[in-house]
Amino acid sequence: MQRRDFLLAPLAQATPSILVHEHVMVDFVGAAAIRPGRYQPDEVAAIALPHLKALHALGCRRLLECTPNFLGRDPLLLQRLARDSGLELWTNTGLYGAGDFKYLPDFARRESASELAARWIAEARGGIDGVRPRFIKIGVNRGPLHPLDRKLVEAAVLTSRATGLTIAVHTGNGAAALEQLSILRTMRHSPAKWVWVHAQSERDHAIHQRVAESGGWVEFDGISPGSLQWHLDCIRFMAEHKMLHRTLISHDAGWYHVGEPRGGDYRGYTCLYTDLLPKLDAATRTQLLWTNPRRAFGR
Ligand SMILES: [Zn+2]
Repeated sequence: MQRRDFLLAPLAQATPSILVHEHVMVDFVGAAAIRPGRYQPDEVAAIALPHLKALHALGCRRLLECTPNFLGRDPLLLQRLARDSGLELWTNTGLYGAGDFKYLPDFARRESASELAARWIAEARGGIDGVRPRFIKIGVNRGPLHPLDRKLVEAAVLTSRATGLTIAVHTGNGAAALEQLSILRTMRHSPAKWVWVHAQSERDHAIHQRVAESGGWVEFDGISPGSLQWHLDCIRFMAEHKMLHRTLISHDAGWYHVGEPRGGDYRGYTCLYTDLLPKLDAATRTQLLWTNPRRAFGR
């Protein structure tokens, strides 16, 4: 597979790449207060577009937009920005329990895992405003997992099983990652369809290794100028333990902050390219930014 990817790569200066965890817009007002009309799509598009164009110029071909429903997910805005930037922008289905459930609508408390999964499967099959989500994004709090967090994970597994979509989970800590793996095991779902998001916030490499050896994806996102050394340590550790084939990287950057004047401070998506990639060899770059994202989330 790797060899074919090399052959398919256009002979451009910039190697093609995929960013698996970024944001274009987020609204942190909470599920109780979020509503349409809290932002002007024209303004958001005007502010986000130069960042996406800069990313395209660096060789990025696809960006997974990880903002869940009730946190500012807007598939039509993404569709418009994809058209204008030349990037593929993928949206998601799922719900975000992290942040002590502030971003969960009431129905998420009432309904069973199967009922929640039915909603997400309907989105995956029928689209959201006509746009099909290409992955499942949920969020859970720190472990030990609250029953509500466990329910979200179970709903995600049911959705993944029915649709084939991969699950990316904002995860509070390593304990919460291991607990999710045991849910997957109980439900007999492949860890290869599950991504531990924010693995960089767990400082114990032994847990990174355990999750990767179990077959789960370990995502070190949050790459920024201040984090480079730690991210390089994580990548080096995974390489030394022959786990690079289970490793993903991204910035978790962006975004237009709804409610702030002109969206506040929009962090661009370039640091990984300008500061981190020059420190990696070509094979590692291709593995982390092309081969692995396609294996984890689909082509
Ligand atoms: Zn994020």
